[in-house]
Amino acid sequence: MIIAGRKPFKEITESLEGFDSVLIVGCGTCVAICLAGGEKEVGILSAQLAIFSEMGGRTLNIGEATVERQCDKEFLSELRRKVPDYGAVLSLACGVGVQFLSDMYPDTPVLPGVNTAFIGANDDVGLWTERCRMCNQCYLALTGAVCPVTMCPKGLLNGPCSGMRGGMCEVDPAKPCAWRLIYERLENTGRLDQIKAIAPPQSHGLTTTPARIAHKAYERRTPANESL
Ligand code: SF4
Ligand code: SF4
Repeated sequence: MIIAGRKPFKEITESLEGFDSVLIVGCGTCVAICLAGGEKEVGILSAQLAIFSEMGGRTLNIGEATVERQCDKEFLSELRRKVPDYGAVLSLACGVGVQFLSDMYPDTPVLPGVNTAFIGANDDVGLWTERCRMCNQCYLALTGAVCPVTMCPKGLLNGPCSGMRGGMCEVDPAKPCAWRLIYERLENTGRLDQIKAIAPPQSHGLTTTPARIAHKAYERRTPANESL
């Protein structure tokens, strides 16, 4: 899932300067799970903003809404009656949600309330770790399902580097070298021969932006050269 963290309160209040009303919009999916922008976080931020504006002698009309997913137009259309009542929208979704809200409601300023960090996993209560950097050329078949792009700070597709010491990473000696983990995983699954395989160079042409993928079944409906 996409992992994000709420922006510092000061940054949020600065971005709202000059507005006398704001609709805070949460997202019920990734950012709700990582405790950054779900319904609960919308309520907390709303209360903080209300106190802040009252203490500053300012009137700020605050609205709250949370949709199931901000990266889906179907759910954003639920807001069509609410958005026009506010001077700004503060989205607590990932950057995709912020942009999509702005696309849907181009006459209203849409501001981000969170910083989108990475694609990661729920490792423990309140702990998320990066697991994928969307290289669009997944190497996990070669590496025992340990991602070399995210687990190795140098993103080495063929490792380890010469800095590994006692199985630990030279960049962060508190962490195991990703290539040690790859070695152990391949060994445990009886595929250690695989460690000799040389991964092809990463094709950065596969990660040019803006990326676009059309499902085969829908290619006629959305031709590759159609503008967004
Ligand atoms: S190799 Fe790593 S970064 Fe690339 S797609 Fe696979 S998991 Fe994601
Ligand atoms: S020690 Fe291992 S994880 Fe650290 S940078 Fe070198 S190859 Fe990557």
